[in-house]
Amino acid sequence: MKDNPVQTAAPEPSFRDSVDLMFNRAVRFMTLPPGLEQKIRVCNATYTVRFGVRLRGAIHTFTGYRSVHSEHMEPVKGGIRYAPFVDQEEVEALAALMTYKCALVEVPFGGSKGGLCLDPREWDEEELERITRRFTYELVKRDLIHPAQNVPAPDMGTSEREMAWIADQYRRMNTTDINASACVTGKPLNAGGIHGRVEATGRGLQYALREFFRHPEDVARAGLSGGLEGKRVVVQGLGNVGFHAARFLSEEDGARIVGIVERDGVLWNDDGLRVEVAREWLLRNGGLRDCPGGHFSEDGAAALEAECDILLPAALEGVIHRDNAARIRAPLIVEGANGPVTAAADAILREKGTVVIPDLYANAGGVTVSYFEWVKNLSQIRFGRLQRRAEEARHALLVSELERLSADQGLGWTLSPSFKDRYLRGDDEIELVRSGLDDTMRAAYGAMRALWHERPELGDLRTAAYVVAIGRVAASYRAKGL
Ligand code: NAD
Repeated sequence: MKDNPVQTAAPEPSFRDSVDLMFNRAVRFMTLPPGLEQKIRVCNATYTVRFGVRLRGAIHTFTGYRSVHSEHMEPVKGGIRYAPFVDQEEVEALAALMTYKCALVEVPFGGSKGGLCLDPREWDEEELERITRRFTYELVKRDLIHPAQNVPAPDMGTSEREMAWIADQYRRMNTTDINASACVTGKPLNAGGIHGRVEATGRGLQYALREFFRHPEDVARAGLSGGLEGKRVVVQGLGNVGFHAARFLSEEDGARIVGIVERDGVLWNDDGLRVEVAREWLLRNGGLRDCPGGHFSEDGAAALEAECDILLPAALEGVIHRDNAARIRAPLIVEGANGPVTAAADAILREKGTVVIPDLYANAGGVTVSYFEWVKNLSQIRFGRLQRRAEEARHALLVSELERLSADQGLGWTLSPSFKDRYLRGDDEIELVRSGLDDTMRAAYGAMRALWHERPELGDLRTAAYVVAIGRVAASYRAKGL
């Protein structure tokens, strides 16, 4: 494998090669003990399973994967993807990204990923449940789903629904395991989930961008100025990640979602699209054609190259590649998807001065809140249940004391009702989850940007993120005595 994809005539590196190339670029700036670099880079194991399910009067054979990249911390963690193009290379690339992502955001997991080679749109709910349960059975049998060893989550093509089936299947096979619900995250609330997991990756993207825009020198590096207000954003993929990110950025930060790219094309409006409307249309019609509120064009690829301030690819890998990278006009790319920029494109963008907020940081909100869910499941109690009312009582005491002092001293102070409302309310689970996520995203950005500024030779945020992450994985291996 060559380390400089741009100067070779070789074809575009695969997704897994891209991740390795990014890793290789980072370790060049590090001093690791001999052999450790290779130990960290390689994927520990990938299990492939082929199983049959009787459906529609015939036996259908499905192929699934669960890859474990690094067990420097356990359990290992990573989503399960349902897509027709899933293969071993892709799952291994995604598992490696999970290792680096968890290390970067200080979530105590190793990296893993799973995939099932099928198009979920071709099967109805009952069929998908049978397929999911059978796949789960195969993985549970080999401890590839287990609260202490390997904990999946949703990814492309899967959601809370599949996670609930996985959790239930695990429980049926481990009836006395008190920690059974911690075997998978991203579950619905009524099946052991946590408030804020569905929105978590999109919310994390919002926090990542807010943190970026808190640093005017970083914003200037992208040739931008000011805050998120009024920034023109193009989003690719209006699924779980893209929808939530676009919604929060437009509704809460004043960003303008000018373009939404989906499988069938792009919906565009210079004045801003209504994200909820587009999402509802997409869910009902399977595409964005004829969606009210914007102009539709089939040329989704061109929209990635359109003029805007922020490009948010949130669909799938490899969409910015060596052939279109030079034409990308957005000065800032925030990677909602995993691996949307190939290593070849990355080099071109770096050369052009495009700032890329990399996937292993930008979309880490999902695994961060999954970590909170796992902790909640193990502790068997909702966050805030013990403290909330005690906190409210303490705040009420302070407010009444202030009011008494004001009255006694004739000061005439009154606390505004909106302040009192906000101050007196104890935090419930969603507020605690968002607070933990915000803190995580800020801390990880701080670690990444410190290196970006201190070591200009690293060249970009992605390399800085890899250096931080690999350094932490290396420290963990060293501490274990490897
Ligand atoms: P999803 O299945 O909910 O949504 C994907 C969306 O992309 C769908 O709306 C789909 O129609 C659209 N899409 C598919 N192919 C497309 C194409 N060629 N052009 C335009 N749009 C296309 O998946 P998701 O969970 O939102 O995941 C999206 C990406 O984010 C993946 O790369 C995934 O690995 C990554 N990610 C997801 C999470 C999570 O918590 N779900 C966390 C981190 C990273």
